[in-house]
Parts: sequence; structure tokens; C-alpha cells
Amino acid sequence: MHTIFPKPKRVLLKLSWEAMKWNYEYGFNGEFIHRLAQKVKNLAQQWIQIVIVVWGGNIYRWAQSTELGIARVEGDHIGMLATVMNGIALTNVLKQVGQPSVALTAVEMPRMLEFFSTHRANEALEDGKVVISVGGTGNPFFTTDTCAVQRALELHCDILVKGTQVDGIYNKDPKKHEDAFKFDQMTPEKALELGVRIMDQAAIALALDNDLPLFVCKIDDIDNICAETIVGTYVSKSAENVVHQPSSQ
Ligand code: UDP
Repeated sequence: MHTIFPKPKRVLLKLSWEAMKWNYEYGFNGEFIHRLAQKVKNLAQQWIQIVIVVWGGNIYRWAQSTELGIARVEGDHIGMLATVMNGIALTNVLKQVGQPSVALTAVEMPRMLEFFSTHRANEALEDGKVVISVGGTGNPFFTTDTCAVQRALELHCDILVKGTQVDGIYNKDPKKHEDAFKFDQMTPEKALELGVRIMDQAAIALALDNDLPLFVCKIDDIDNICAETIVGTYVSKSAENVVHQPSSQ
């Protein structure tokens, strides 16, 4: 029995490049993507249906647009296409490790990928496939975080798991502040109040408005989310603000 939240039936995994920077620099890294695919397979084997919203930042982020002299909307288009590239790579590697999967795109490109629809995603999940949502929301001025919350709500995921560099949410950056402390649980209101950067504020607000629970853990632990020993931070309206006590690990 999991100590913080009940075992989910359907999970949305949000994997951000921020969490992967530790593993590799810009571009693709075959070793990392194979390790990630194995973890996704491990999680799927626990009878959990998985939707993944993939990252784009290893290739392009809108913030680069100003430096490059590219307008925001076109920059966002490039960013969304970056998620498509990552999604195609991850889908293929998942198949190689024996995990059926399908990438569904919010941006039509019928020669390469199927178009995302709620119906098609549900059908693939019921068939035992991992669904990789690519192309973000298909709209500029959004991020893969907002996309992740929106997809989790649309597909009735029990929880959104965000894999990050650190093992949960701290009151301040633990890499910069020795006295930073971690929460085992917290309310979304507390996350907004602290201005924590687990996801952008629009995404947290959307999750809060719709009672979507979040779990933040190390990206390396995403296949252990059902283990009693999992370390992370659970964010839910029903949670309390509980600071982690090292002895309770
Ligand atoms: N993006 C967008 N609309 C979306 C999702 C993403 O315009 O619905 C663009 C945006 O430019 C963003 C880039 O795609 O900077 C890559 O997404 P993100 O920065 O969220 O990538 P990640 O942090 O997951 O690596």
C-alpha cells in the first residue's frame, strides 16, 4: 500500500528537459532515452496506464527566440515541433524495449503521426499502449506543463507525476540554500504561495481548479511511484503541508 496516495490506474508522466540537463546537454542522448524507456516499461508492467507529455527544451524553447530574433509565435511553433522529434524518438525506443506505444500529435502531420484525440488516446491506453502526447497543445503561448495538466484532465488520469532533478518540492532551491527543506505533502495553494517552480503557474492553477493531484519526484524514480519507499512531494487539495523529516525516509 502506498503511503501517500492510492495506487493510480492511469498516470500522466510529465518529463521536462530541465530534469534531464543533468544527464546530457542539448540534443539527443541515446543512452538516456533507452534508460528512460526501460523505466516507463517497468511502470507500465505494474498495470498502470501511462500518458507521457514529452519535453522540447533539449532542442528549442521560446525563450531562445528573442536571442535569435525569431518572433514568439514562430518560436513556439519550433518548440512544439521539438516535442514531436523527442516523442518520435521515445516511441521508437519504447517499441525496441518491448513496450507498445503510440505518439499522437496535436499538430497535424499525417505522413508521420496520428492526430491526437481523446477517443484515440483512450483507445490506445485500453489496448495497453503508452500514449506519447506530442506537439504540446498545438497552440503558442502555452508550455508542455499546461499541456500535461490539460491532457491529464482530458484523459481522467488519477495523478500527474512530474519527474525532476530533485526528489520533491523544497521551500527554496536546495542547490543554493543549505537550510532548504522539502515537503512530503503540500496543498496547491501553498505551492502557489511559495512560487515553487515545479511547473509554470498557469499549469498549477489549472490543476488546482480541477482538483488534479500532482506528485513530484526524481526522474530516476518514476518507475517507483507505487513503492512505499518512494520519496517525493504529493500536491493535492486533500493534502496537508507536511515538511519532510529525514528520519521518516
Ligand atoms: N510550446 C508551445 N505550446 C505548447 C507546448 C509547448 O508553444 O502547448 C513551445 C514553447 O515554445 C516551449 C517549447 O514548446 O518553450 C518547449 O516546451 P517546454 O519549454 O515546456 O519544454 P520542456 O520544459 O518540457 O523541455
